[in-house]
Order: sequence, then structure tokens, then C-alpha cells
Amino acid sequence: MNTFYKILFGLSLLLATGCKQATGNKLYLGNRQIKVVATTTMIADLLNNAGKGRVLVESLMGPGIDPHSYEPRESDVSRLMDADVVFYNGIHLEGKMADLFEESSKKKHVFAIADGLLPADIRKEIQTNTPDPHIWFDVQLWIKCLEFVSAKLIEIDPENSAIYNTNKTNYLATLNDLHKYVKQQSEKIPNEQRVLITAHDAFGYFGNAYGFQVRGVQGINTVAEANSGEIGSLATFMVKNKVRAFFVESSVPRKNLEKLKEVAALLDPSFVLSSGGELFSDALGPKNSPAGTYEGMVKHNIDTILKALIP
Ligand SMILES: [Zn+2]
Repeated sequence: MNTFYKILFGLSLLLATGCKQATGNKLYLGNRQIKVVATTTMIADLLNNAGKGRVLVESLMGPGIDPHSYEPRESDVSRLMDADVVFYNGIHLEGKMADLFEESSKKKHVFAIADGLLPADIRKEIQTNTPDPHIWFDVQLWIKCLEFVSAKLIEIDPENSAIYNTNKTNYLATLNDLHKYVKQQSEKIPNEQRVLITAHDAFGYFGNAYGFQVRGVQGINTVAEANSGEIGSLATFMVKNKVRAFFVESSVPRKNLEKLKEVAALLDPSFVLSSGGELFSDALGPKNSPAGTYEGMVKHNIDTILKALIP
């Protein structure tokens, strides 16, 4: 059986063994913990905080994995089969998993955390008017996602609402401090130097929230290849505005940034572009590393940006 048919077979099993109840979202769990499957490492971290003490969280994608191009594997179907509830980002971040979510939602609780935001919160890519899925980079939007996730956990497991409310209060304080920290660090960089050049356009929400002009070599989706025209126009922008630092990303190959460097050198041989360091964009750092949590990732990014833009 090839992988496609194995996944289809798995899906039919998933439907046969689903456990969604007819009475609202409440699950009959007894004393056991809720088995949660999250797609990205950021969402897994959010659930670990919101559900502390009550959830067992598994993330389908690990550190360094690009969610835009991620194709579900056979083992993912069995992890979904086993879960009580599935949380994913939405806004087409997990572009190749849409069918799997749709099928799963017939029998499982499947929630897109972007549903916790208002239409006005969603940024659109300027050229294409495509909604941008990278909502986690505005800490205040992530706070709304925390509120959404906490509300869903309470619907599923109302007997333990006190635990979820305490978890929410605690993590809300952490996220409010984090938002203040990013704001304070950003304000150390003069306005005209707040320009962020990255491998793909993941930092639009970050730019809007903290006052950075952001340009990515690729658009908001890494699936479409950057063409030489886009690389050329970005190189021209950098040379003209004397923006010397670009940032590599943990989940995106570096080849486009290397090309950018070559084109800028052709435009002005005296102009040397250099890497400002690595940012974590669509996945957290390795477990137990400083960027292995959402809070650590956001701090790593702003500290790296500050160091590169104010040498
Ligand atoms: Zn992305």
C-alpha cells in the first residue's frame, strides 16, 4: 500500500474510532488527562501552558520544520486517531493538511487557534492580499489565542475550569511582560534603522506591532520559489537604504539569502551584506534550549535583531 492509501485507510479508522460527543464540546474523561495534538511547536507550547496539569501535548512538527510545506505522514494519522482534541494554526499555515483536518473534524474536536482573532486582526500580504498566518509574532495576538485555547479547554473539561483559569492568569502575566520586553528592546533601535530583511515574510505582524519595516525574500508562504526579479528588487532596496544585515531563519533554507548577497555585491562591490544571525520563525528551537519555548523564541529573536541593528 503506498503512503497515500495508508493515510486514507488511517482516516477511515479515525472516523470509525472517533470519540466526539453529541452533547456540545464536553468530553467524558474520568480522571485521565486530555490527549492534545498540536501541529506546530508554538501551539504545543501554548497548550502546555494553558492546560498545565491536565493535558498531554504532542506536536506533529518538530523544531526546524517548515509548516507551509509539511506533508502529513502515516504516523500523524495514528497520532490524530489517538487524540481527544487537535489544535492547529489555520489561515492556511498548514497548507497540505487541510483535508486531514476536515476529515478529523467529523469525529474529533479540531480547532484552528486563528479563530480566536477578529477579522481586523488578520494582516494581509500587500501585493497579493493573501491573509498572513504568522500570528504568533505579535504577542498581543498570541494573548487572544491563549484566551481562545483556554475557553476551548474549559468547554471540553468544565469540571477543571478552575485549573484552566489559574493557568491562564499565570501565563497571561508572562505574555504581558514579554510584550513589554519586546517593545522596550525595539525602542532602543532608532526608527530609520528598524528594517528587517528575512528569508520569508514571516515577520509582518511583528513589524506592525513593534514598528519595523519588514521585507522577506520569499512571500508569506515558502512553497512558492522566490524569483530573480524579487531578489533583485530587494538587493536594490538594501543597497539604496544601506541596510547591511539580513536574518536567516531556522525553518527556511538559506540559498535565497546567499543569492541576495551575490546580487547586492554586483550592484555595489563596496557594499557587503552580512548575516545578522538566525531567527526562529515558523518553529521553536530544540527542546530544553533557550528558544525551545515561545517566550524564549520571542526573546531570542528581539535580542538577535537588536544586536545586529545596533552593532
Ligand atoms: Zn512562514
